[in-house]
Amino acid sequence: MNRVVMKYGGTSVKNIDNIKKVAKIIAKRKEQGKNVVVVVSAMGNTTDNLIDMAKQISKDKMNTRELDMLISTGEQQSIALLSMAIEAEGYKAISLTGFQADIKTTGVHTKNTIKDINTAKLEKYLDQGCIVVVAGFQGVNESGDITTLGRGGSDTTAVALAAMLDCSCEIYTDVDGVYTIDPRVYKNARKLDVISYEEMMQMSSLGAGVLETRAVQLGKQYGVPIMVALNTGMIRGTYIKELKKMEERGVTGLSMAKGVLMITVDNINYSPVDISHLFKLLATEKVNIDMISQNSQKDGLVSVSFTADDEDKYIVEKVLNKYCAEIKSAEYTIEEDIVKISLVGMGMMNQSGVASRIFGVYADSNIDFKLVTTSEISVSYAINKKDTMTIVNNLAREFNL
Ligand code: ASP
Ligand code: MG
Repeated sequence: MNRVVMKYGGTSVKNIDNIKKVAKIIAKRKEQGKNVVVVVSAMGNTTDNLIDMAKQISKDKMNTRELDMLISTGEQQSIALLSMAIEAEGYKAISLTGFQADIKTTGVHTKNTIKDINTAKLEKYLDQGCIVVVAGFQGVNESGDITTLGRGGSDTTAVALAAMLDCSCEIYTDVDGVYTIDPRVYKNARKLDVISYEEMMQMSSLGAGVLETRAVQLGKQYGVPIMVALNTGMIRGTYIKELKKMEERGVTGLSMAKGVLMITVDNINYSPVDISHLFKLLATEKVNIDMISQNSQKDGLVSVSFTADDEDKYIVEKVLNKYCAEIKSAEYTIEEDIVKISLVGMGMMNQSGVASRIFGVYADSNIDFKLVTTSEISVSYAINKKDTMTIVNNLAREFNL
């Protein structure tokens, strides 16, 4: 069973020329004796454009069933065109939508998760010698409706298929691998040959855009070897796999998340009930809270700070106005232009002194941070956006990134 899943993102198939190039690479892989399943995203900005059109009709209240119906068409275009292009290279190809590929999903529209994939049909086509081109980012739910998996969801489709087909997954993109720091921000960043699932999961969820977090999680769960590489297929990329023992590196990479809001609510009477009420209101409105800290002020008052995504600004304000109307003493401020800088590394688990070195860099750089959070293998700081480049340069130097 010499199979492989190859995934191409939107920029790799943004026009017909690029689709033809990708088709040639895939054909070559087949020529070399692989049974190939291809997962593809929508061409270029197609998904954004489709969402924009929907927004012109439904401003606040979007019918998400219809939105799924709409945005799933982006991938339907690219799979058909790519299949045609592969056939033009002289190879048998067939395109399958998520529904046709029996990708069963569950959850709420536009944010579904994959529940199961019946690969029988897909394997039948592989046995017939076809290159099977599957639409990323979509599936079908219990009611038979078309669903999507959330933005960037094609990575998840690819890894899930590789898990079910028991093969490796190659993610082709417009960068040639995973870097210690986003090379567009820090040009001396180094490409990593290999990174563990855990580190990649942290890097992705803390802002690195190369790979969807859920896809890496799934890869870890099913032990799917993942490779991220440039879409020309000519350069060795980065391998993501289980790593038992990390070599000496304490810090593997630095991730950056922009578009962070920092909210501070002052003058809350210290009472777990009042504090929990704040987070309950936010949760009811589905606001995703990230870093949290609580400080005591004088006279039994506390202040609570947390970060959220700036896309949720409107809803956060709505919640806070409600909260401050109920808890009379409370007042809130929202700071924008906040960036979250995170250092990630398995080495942090059993190396002491990493945090002290990071704090030292902040002190030497004379940069204030607003919030700090840690996990077993990461440390994150919320800072003012204007300080980003200074701290990135100084942290990169300290940790040799
Ligand atoms: N086309 C979808 C998006 O733009 C899925 C993907 O690209 O992975 O989010
Ligand atoms: Mg993507």
